Amino acid sequence: MPKFFLPATAGAAGETVHFTQEDAWHIARVLRLAPGTEVRAGDGRGYAYRVLLRTVTPQLVAGEILAKEADESEPALRIHLYQSLLKGEKMDWVLQKGTEIGVFSFQPFLSSRSVARPEPAQAGKKQQRWSRIALEAAKQSERGVIPTVHPLATIDSLPWPAGVPALVAWEGEQEKSLRQVLAAMPKPEELILVVGPEGGFAREEVEFFVDRGALPVSLGPRILRAETAGPVTAALILYHYGEM
Ligand code: SAM
Repeated sequence: MPKFFLPATAGAAGETVHFTQEDAWHIARVLRLAPGTEVRAGDGRGYAYRVLLRTVTPQLVAGEILAKEADESEPALRIHLYQSLLKGEKMDWVLQKGTEIGVFSFQPFLSSRSVARPEPAQAGKKQQRWSRIALEAAKQSERGVIPTVHPLATIDSLPWPAGVPALVAWEGEQEKSLRQVLAAMPKPEELILVVGPEGGFAREEVEFFVDRGALPVSLGPRILRAETAGPVTAALILYHYGEM
């Protein structure tokens, strides 16, 4: 059964919670759950709830909180995936698989070799669509958090918060592998992972990232497709730190 996300952070045991209109329809019409059924819900901010359904109609589903606890499904390490914009469904793939794996947030951005370059009006619609993909993947994978998909950025507007280590996956890196870099890095609370577009990063873009403290890392001698590199690297990082 998918995890439902409550529209707001709920209170303590005994309180009544209401599910979203969309989830109400799904619970009543698709899953056909009856009052008295216990379901799991999250608030998308790291808390999990056991909820006893009291009212079940396609328009309204409400229940009573039986228990509220910290959501154990979230990695302690928050990975922010800075993904240079990919064409069409490849971006959807990165968002869906990255969410399943445990990525905390996604920051799409344009780099010099980004093939997809949406108009500003389109970018807003794309972000809404991408956020929906992250929501659906978070439900399916029973995440405790709904990953944020930030608005499309330019390479110059990417944030580099102080104290957050950053890795840039670069096939031109000849010395440092991901494995070596992680072995020398104590488990951080957050980490930025930068991945290029179909055409890769220009050397001066890698230098731009290095100037902002990012470490170039090799993923090995094989060239991964852009849509492979992000999810795989996120999985390797989480595995290394015992989160998978
Ligand atoms: N320059 C590549 C080529 O000539 O095929 C295209 C870039 S690759 C398809 C897309 C992105 O995946 C790269 O920008 C990099 O971030 C990452 N990537 C793929 N293979 C990699 C590897 N072996 N080591 C490090 N990064 C890699």
